[in-house]
Amino acid sequence: MKMRQVSDNCYTVLNEKNRVCDANSGLINRGGGVVIDTQSDLPHARQMIELFSKVWPAMPRRVINTHEDGDHVWGNQLFEGAEIIAHRSVPERMRHVADPEESRKLLAGVRNEQTRAAISAVNPGLAAAGQQLSEDYNFEGIELVLPTTLFDARYVLDLNGVEVHLIYVGPCHQVGDTIIHVPNERVIFAGDVLFRQCTPMGWTGSYEKWFQCLDLLIKLAPETVVPGHGPVCGVEGVIEMKAYLQYVLEESRKYFDNGLPALEAAKKIEFGPYGDWRAPARLFMNVERAYREFRSEPPDAPWDTTATFDAIYEVAKAKGITVEF
Ligand SMILES: [Zn+2]
Repeated sequence: MKMRQVSDNCYTVLNEKNRVCDANSGLINRGGGVVIDTQSDLPHARQMIELFSKVWPAMPRRVINTHEDGDHVWGNQLFEGAEIIAHRSVPERMRHVADPEESRKLLAGVRNEQTRAAISAVNPGLAAAGQQLSEDYNFEGIELVLPTTLFDARYVLDLNGVEVHLIYVGPCHQVGDTIIHVPNERVIFAGDVLFRQCTPMGWTGSYEKWFQCLDLLIKLAPETVVPGHGPVCGVEGVIEMKAYLQYVLEESRKYFDNGLPALEAAKKIEFGPYGDWRAPARLFMNVERAYREFRSEPPDAPWDTTATFDAIYEVAKAKGITVEF
């Protein structure tokens, strides 16, 4: 983890491994301090607070959650008394998708040799994902602390003269997707609508919405974009991810029209120029999302996480690469 200043008043803490759960956080060090996203577990959240304290020594008075996923909200409890701001959908969604119990159980399962072998025999992808997470994460002690200040389309903070715009853009990666725009400093904290140098994972939402959101990011003409995952970039990072999604959507259409199942299509679609991104086999999720849309399924159709990890594992195996999540 390292901290980086991105403008006069904006900072970020980056999780450089850039695999699943390695989310970035932001800090705007004005008006009492605002932290954007709170990391995946308490040790990482403490490390993030420690790094930000070098520029903002007091505990920040506000937290923004860019969306409801665990890797962006599981450190909320460490900001005691802070105002937590998010889109109106986020508290209810967090109860469903950010229950830390499932992740705790998975890590306990893979840390024991016997249960690891048993999980691996039935669900090799789930076991591999658990193994990877156990290298870096410890989900003990996490209690969900839900946002209390909720907004619908837009919310503006005035931090002693620095305006911060929260813009709701979901659902493209998740229901609550919000971008944080600091116009005077030409900075955007994008949350998980932007993945950089790692394969995007989308849960709830549509390609159409995601393209609209990426177009909005480009239109806002930021100098610096802090993605939810991956290194800081400019607009070129947004353009590149849009090209990736377009590529996957077009390739998926061909295989869908030929009647091939999503998993088989994901095994066949070339990684192309995106093969050196982290976790390229997460391609499966983007193919599956495209297929759901082709079948006119609702964007909020639930995912079976275990089956998803297993499918990613299968794709990696078919491509002859080491699986990464
Ligand atoms: Zn994330």
